[in-house]
Amino acid sequence: MPLYEYYCADCKIKFEALRRMSQADDPIACVRCQGTNTSRLISVFAAISKGSSGESRSLGGSSGCASCSATSCAACSSG
Ligand SMILES: [Zn+2]
Repeated sequence: MPLYEYYCADCKIKFEALRRMSQADDPIACVRCQGTNTSRLISVFAAISKGSSGESRSLGGSSGCASCSATSCAACSSG
C-alpha cells in the first residue's frame, strides 16, 4: 500500500498513513485529535517518474520500511 501524507488543520500537524489508492482521498481521522479536518498532501512517491536508465521501479509497492518515507534507511538495510 502506498504511504500518503495528511495535514490536520486543527492541530497543524502532518501525519502519514498507509492506505489503498482508492481510499487516498477519503476523509481520515487525525492521529492526534481524531478529527477529520484533514487534507491529503501530494505524496512524493506519486511525483516520481523514472528517468533515462531504462529500469522501472514499481511504484506503490513496499518501498522503505514503517519508520521511513524514503526507499531506504538504516532500518531498511539492516536485515
Ligand atoms: Zn488533529
